[in-house]
Amino acid sequence: MTGLMNETVHVGSVGGTRSSLYVVATPIGNLADISLRALEVLKQVDVIAAEDTRVTSHLLKHYGIATRLFALHEHNERRAAEKLIDLLAAGKSVALVSDAGTPAISDPGALAVAAVREAGYPVIAVPGANAALCALAAAGSPTPHFLFYGFLPQQSSARNRELELLKAQPYLLVFYEAPHRVVACIDDMLAVFGAERRVTIARELTKLFESIHSCALGEAPAWFAGDANRIRGEFVLLVEPAVAVEGVEDEAASRVLEILLRELPLKQAVQLAVEISGGARNTLYKRALELKKSAS
Ligand code: SAM
Repeated sequence: MTGLMNETVHVGSVGGTRSSLYVVATPIGNLADISLRALEVLKQVDVIAAEDTRVTSHLLKHYGIATRLFALHEHNERRAAEKLIDLLAAGKSVALVSDAGTPAISDPGALAVAAVREAGYPVIAVPGANAALCALAAAGSPTPHFLFYGFLPQQSSARNRELELLKAQPYLLVFYEAPHRVVACIDDMLAVFGAERRVTIARELTKLFESIHSCALGEAPAWFAGDANRIRGEFVLLVEPAVAVEGVEDEAASRVLEILLRELPLKQAVQLAVEISGGARNTLYKRALELKKSAS
């Protein structure tokens, strides 16, 4: 064990446990995905502010924790934040949890956290499960950079407007989606991003029916239609960037292309770049269009 790691489980480094707010990540499906520190915090704090007290009771019961709960959700967050600050002012320690994963990530919590920080009390994050990071870890993304978007608008017109804004972003796009909207959402992505972009559909992560499927967006509707079970559960959708960033080899291919384009028409340059580098024709063609555009 290096000096970077604490050898004992202690609940926090700022302000002790008194008058502190702990933002605690809870599992996204598999109840075992909770840290020792999170359990210790949930046990030691005076009160837990929970998105849904019934959901959190289930978790607490599983781990034999009897800490008192109160509700803090999107419909009462402002009022609940005041209550939370009153508790901190009275010297109590409070933990904040959502139904699953990390609070404030596409979940309530950010408003309460901001209010607590504004009021001058320490806020201590206790890291753990998060669906986006879990999907990213298993997806094998071609780029190290990602843009976490969360939930797209529910209406197709508003959703399409957002997708248009995201279309040219050079980052892997990370979305959350509900089962009853996932097919409509994929249809819109297909219409806006085109059939060739690749998508990874991460479903029911950490749960019994977990599945992670990657395909071209153009193939995704047929994949969903192939089995009714594939639209059940919770989803993270990862959409690759407009031009795939495929590491060193493609950088070299792109450089070859750049040089050839100085001397040759686009089609010929792409053909030669494919032959020289062994790179993917579609990727190099898209890259050539980009290079032409930026040169004009
Ligand atoms: N705060 C959570 C986190 O840290 O990931 C996210 C909460 S958000 C209300 C719920 C959404 O997260 C779901 O609709 C789904 O898109 C995604 N999600 C949560 N759990 C998941 C799981 N086990 N597998 C896939 N996606 C999941």
